[in-house]
Amino acid sequence: MKVPMLDLTEQYKSLKGEIGVALEEVMSSSRFILGDNVKKLEQDVAEFSNATHSVGVANGSDALHISLLGCGVEEGDEVICPAFTFFATAGAIARAGATPVFVDIDPKTYNIDPSAVAQAVTDKTKAIIPVHLYGQMADMDALKEIAEKHNLAIIEDAAQSIGAEYKGKKVGELGTTATYSFFPTKNLGAYGDAGMIITSDDEVAEKMRVIRVHGSKPKYYHHVLGYNSRLDELQAAILNVKFPHLTDWNKKRIQNAEYYTELINKHLKEEVVTPFVEEHNYHIFHQYTIRVPERDKLQAFLKEHGIATMIYYPKPLHLQPVFSNLGYKEGDLPHTEKACGEALSLPMFPELKKEQQEFVIETMKSFFEKNREGEA
Ligand SMILES: *Cc1c(COP(=O)(O)O)cnc(C)c1O
Repeated sequence: MKVPMLDLTEQYKSLKGEIGVALEEVMSSSRFILGDNVKKLEQDVAEFSNATHSVGVANGSDALHISLLGCGVEEGDEVICPAFTFFATAGAIARAGATPVFVDIDPKTYNIDPSAVAQAVTDKTKAIIPVHLYGQMADMDALKEIAEKHNLAIIEDAAQSIGAEYKGKKVGELGTTATYSFFPTKNLGAYGDAGMIITSDDEVAEKMRVIRVHGSKPKYYHHVLGYNSRLDELQAAILNVKFPHLTDWNKKRIQNAEYYTELINKHLKEEVVTPFVEEHNYHIFHQYTIRVPERDKLQAFLKEHGIATMIYYPKPLHLQPVFSNLGYKEGDLPHTEKACGEALSLPMFPELKKEQQEFVIETMKSFFEKNREGEA
């Protein structure tokens, strides 16, 4: 048996007809940029997120960058973020001319630690970017308290968490803006790059809309420096077909996660740490990430037996060569660095079969049995 990390073919087969029609309609209309499909997706995603505005952009990385600019972040400012995340979180801060200030994570949830954020605030701090990692939201109440005290914007990096909730609140309800990525592997994936920003702040929304079209308003008059960063109609047409299924797909991911946890608790309770879900969180399992000290050996063993896994993330951002000028060193963020050595994401997608999950766990079981014999 082979178990891929992610298999999008099944989902495509079930939607092939509808997607074909939607693409044909865009091509026949010859309206390719900021047309009705983008408008519809923006409306639906805003409503889904209990937000009043949404701005479709070229990808999730630009969604972060444009959010920062929309919130007034500029050269010389500091923005606090975790180092245990995808590069784009900090890359967007640097692209805005600001300095990323990396803080440690809560080792249980892998999300940014609010007490570390509180300690990192300076006179130059303008914003915080919590990343809702793997599908679970960060501790928003604690972050909001810090943000209000110091007058900071909160930009929620929700690339992995569309549909997640915290204390009954959706992504974006507690932040100034929240950003989604529709990269093909995300819970709601396009067939190319795409992203979106949501906000309920009228002024920030207007600024971001202008920035995505070269800072132009009215057309051909430029008061601010903008970019060309738009979600295109073909991608929006595909996303409009997929969006009504998102909640159902998220539920299937949750069921798959529950089954993994059940099997691990039964067979590998001593060896494997399962994902920790805060009671007040609705975790939509973009990833099912376990923790094991002998992670690299386990990954190689699974690969030998036809099981794909991924390491999110092998090297923390504070130790990346591109940020060496910031002066961080090994040991600065111990929980982050430990997680980089132990976290392993197992195959996860809505269509994953129980037999595949059982095979993953059985193979892990034989790895640990072999390991124990080796030690004896
Ligand atoms: C995927 C991702 C992004 C970037 O999204 P793109 O659409 O690929 O630019 C940003 N942050 C996190 C946490 C992500 O997982």
